[in-house]
Amino acid sequence: MTDTKPAARPAIARRGLLYILSSPSGAGKTTLARRLLAEDPNITMSVSVTTRKPRPGEIDGKDYVFVDHASFEGMRDEGALLEWARVFDNYYGTPAAPVAAAIEAGKDVLFDIDWQGAQQLSEKMPGDVVRVFVMPPSGRVLEERLRTRAQDPPDVVARRMAEAAGEISHWPEYDYVIVNADVEESVRSVSAILAAERLKRGRLLGLSSFVRDMQNSL
Ligand code: 5GP
Repeated sequence: MTDTKPAARPAIARRGLLYILSSPSGAGKTTLARRLLAEDPNITMSVSVTTRKPRPGEIDGKDYVFVDHASFEGMRDEGALLEWARVFDNYYGTPAAPVAAAIEAGKDVLFDIDWQGAQQLSEKMPGDVVRVFVMPPSGRVLEERLRTRAQDPPDVVARRMAEAAGEISHWPEYDYVIVNADVEESVRSVSAILAAERLKRGRLLGLSSFVRDMQNSL
């Protein structure tokens, strides 16, 4: 009888990548991030440190690590942050240690950070970043989403609409742009981008020894 089982795929060591999602608030990137994390065991979320107050339902240590200004400045000055930025009067930053550990272990890290953070990570680790900008389908839809999210007072919504224009102006700095009109389609897009980026030759650290062994066996 012929054996129809597919050949076992050899494990080729891979360096993890930094998967950055940026968008104006309300464009839907948090939903996309959650879906990706739920569906893919090999990617973990980078939990940022922030001086912003928690919103209802947000959990310290899961959504953010909520700190006061002095603690934030302490971490920043010690060099414990891979990048940091001021957004809407608050400070946000990415703790460096978990990121280094994850990518060395071949795990990918997902970032929900703004254009300033994306720029800093691109400068520090150019070969490791994959940048995706999530665009709302229209200004009207963005405003509606910000209003119905109902977690921020109206003056904050108005301010976030004004800030959206600034964030959107950075779209050419990203590798991919997804117009998030349909969540399911956008989830498929972020997964497809990740799948393709994982296969890039430069990330497959074990590829040359794999090919050498293969050539020796020919
Ligand atoms: P929010 O207050 O709505 O959670 O986040 C506000 C903005 O800050 C979002 O655009 C979000 O992507 C960005 N942000 C969150 N964490 C970080 C971070 O660690 N670094 C940077 N640069 N931006 C962040």
